[in-house]
Amino acid sequence: MEVRRQIEVSGIVQGVGFRPYVYRLATGRKLAGNIRNTSAGVTIEVQGPREEVQDFVDHLPAEAPPLARITSFIVHEVACNGDTDFRIVHSCTGEEVRTLISPDVAICPDCLRELFDPADRRYRYPFINCTNCGPRFTIVRDIPYDRPSTSMAVFPMCASCQAEYDDPLNRRFHAQPNACWECGPQVGLWDKSGRHIFCRDPIAEAASGLSAGLIVAVKGLGGFHLAADATNKAAVKLLRERKRRVEKPFAIMVPDLQAAQGICEIDVAAQAALESVQRPIVLLPKKPSCSIPKEVAPFNRYLALFLPYTPLHYLLLREGGFRALVMTSGNLSEEPIAIDNQEAVRRLNGLADYFLVHNREILLRCDDSVVRVSGGVTRQMRRSRGFVPVPVFLKDEQPSVLAVGGELKNTICLTKGKHAFLSQHIGDLENAESYGFFGEAIEHLERILEIQPTILAYDLHPDYFSTRWALQQGSRLVGVQHHHAHIASCMAENHLDGRVIGFALDGTGYGTDGHIWGGEVLIAGYNDFKRAAHFEYVPLPGGAAAIREPWRMAVSCLAHHFGRDFLNLEIPFVRQLDKTKTDLVLRMIEQKINSPLTSSCGRLFDAVAALSGIRQQVNYEAQAAIELEMAITASCSDGYPMELAPDGDGWIIGTRPLFEAIVGDLKQDIGVGEISRRFHNGLVATFVRIAGLLRDKSALNRVCLSGGTFHNVYLSQQLEARLTNAGFEVFTHHEVPAGDGGLSLGQAVVAAAAAKRWAFAGYLPALTPRRDK
Ligand SMILES: [Zn+2]
Ligand SMILES: [Zn+2]
Ligand SMILES: [Zn+2]
Repeated sequence: MEVRRQIEVSGIVQGVGFRPYVYRLATGRKLAGNIRNTSAGVTIEVQGPREEVQDFVDHLPAEAPPLARITSFIVHEVACNGDTDFRIVHSCTGEEVRTLISPDVAICPDCLRELFDPADRRYRYPFINCTNCGPRFTIVRDIPYDRPSTSMAVFPMCASCQAEYDDPLNRRFHAQPNACWECGPQVGLWDKSGRHIFCRDPIAEAASGLSAGLIVAVKGLGGFHLAADATNKAAVKLLRERKRRVEKPFAIMVPDLQAAQGICEIDVAAQAALESVQRPIVLLPKKPSCSIPKEVAPFNRYLALFLPYTPLHYLLLREGGFRALVMTSGNLSEEPIAIDNQEAVRRLNGLADYFLVHNREILLRCDDSVVRVSGGVTRQMRRSRGFVPVPVFLKDEQPSVLAVGGELKNTICLTKGKHAFLSQHIGDLENAESYGFFGEAIEHLERILEIQPTILAYDLHPDYFSTRWALQQGSRLVGVQHHHAHIASCMAENHLDGRVIGFALDGTGYGTDGHIWGGEVLIAGYNDFKRAAHFEYVPLPGGAAAIREPWRMAVSCLAHHFGRDFLNLEIPFVRQLDKTKTDLVLRMIEQKINSPLTSSCGRLFDAVAALSGIRQQVNYEAQAAIELEMAITASCSDGYPMELAPDGDGWIIGTRPLFEAIVGDLKQDIGVGEISRRFHNGLVATFVRIAGLLRDKSALNRVCLSGGTFHNVYLSQQLEARLTNAGFEVFTHHEVPAGDGGLSLGQAVVAAAAAKRWAFAGYLPALTPRRDK
């Protein structure tokens, strides 16, 4: 008996080869019907013998194309009609391709095989792609996502490419960036001042430059990289000097998994992350036998590794026979990555010896993503290329909100329905170029996602550039406290409602009392939060200077607990202090000059790192805390004590016993590895104790862990394990960074909750006036 079914599929099912896939699945079973794109995804009607139709329905989600992401799949029974064949119906309502745009992903195995097949017409073509791979997000100018709206518009397809594009059974059916040697983009080689170098094979020339120890700027998918031979110590040093990057680790690209396994420890989860279509940079522990020079990642037990993801990368690595290439963002220190050829020559002037460019325009910059793998789980540290603009799927419908994020590692977030679209990594907004990119990213994402938010969420810090921008927009505004946003972000990602116990640990966030928070335990829901415990306040002598110079934090903490008497302590830290500078810092603290108070957990790490001799000054953000974690030695030990003093409804975490114990250990020449371990264990024990006290008081049993401090693998794993052992349900970040890169998601859901309360109360706050910038 014939039956007919209608199937509504939502999620990422457009522009990813879904229609030809369904077409093949249906025609292979000789079923009739059709498929069309709708505003929510695709609708399929399929008709034929009952068993065949059921088989089709069973196979459909399981064998979907690699880039498809199905979020809902609903089957209805409908009446049969006279259909005799299966057709792809082109929508003329303008609804087509108005849903989710897929991210840029790595070259697929089929294209890779063709790339190195001398018989293929795209042999060694650096822009080979198909519906299963290649650029998307970074080449989209506008919607709908089809060729005229992309930077491929200037490359009319040749007859062969057009035939592939039009054939539903071809892997390149409606692959918008489809191209070949004859009709598509081409690479070129420029010298350091941007003059074209005539040569037969620009990639081979660039590879020989790299082999000779030179620095080559390589145009990629979301921006330029600066490349150098990672096995050549002198080349790595040269790149550090030119980029003014003293010690911050460089990411390295290795040709394949085998090469990665030769230098780092790689478990199953790490392998999956490395080989995933997103191809993020993965932080991996170095093997003892690792042959990569230490200059690539000084004082670090980890290497930042990734595999090639564009055809151009494969050609370059293979051409030069490189075992590893440093591939670092094409920028000067913290500026945004360069994307345009002329811009690259201007901004990377003096950094690169050659420019390997191409003429396919990058419309929106998108840095490499960074993940770490711990306990078999992949966690985002920087969610960017390969992941954006895939939304974070939320539990409930949300009003449209724009959340503008924080100051450092900025991202923005737009919500629509059950989707939260986090932007790519934008960077540190105190940098003028990044601030410009911030504005561009908001405009571009609002356009391609078709979201016109009327509610705007921002951080309470009055000096953040994102906050100042928000206050000028003429919108309905919701200010969200920094650590409340962190916990809300973790709740949203984990589809939690109600209230939780939240540990929000990071370096800096503006508190509701005007002090700098950062070691916070909250009782929080989307609607509000209560500060239940925090580290005791200590002065931050010199503000930002204290962040760059951890020794100031150690002096501040010692002076706070022991007064100027600490100067008589017989420990190495005190002996090596510069008397004049120390006296200046002490006077700043005593006279309360430029010494804001802070409860920051990150600054506590800084103080302990300086005190134990690990690092007195940092060259990049969180360096002291990272090196303190790296110093942990494996022996078992107890944690340092901390005390809990009742404070109103909650507690203040006193650190005096901690510093007394560290000073005691230093006097006895206890090694830094042991001190670091005791410090970490002390934090874990204290947090578990606080969680227990809060559970007794509030009956809450769910704990959320958020904030940049949770990028610390040891602390995260120990705390999660100990809390779980104590019977808590523990929720952490996976898809969204724990640090400030995930802040905008939390801001968005807190603002959405406020908007729902307004709607419930039948009240709408006035728009704030729009001000000229
Ligand atoms: Zn492909
Ligand atoms: Zn062609
Ligand atoms: Zn933060």
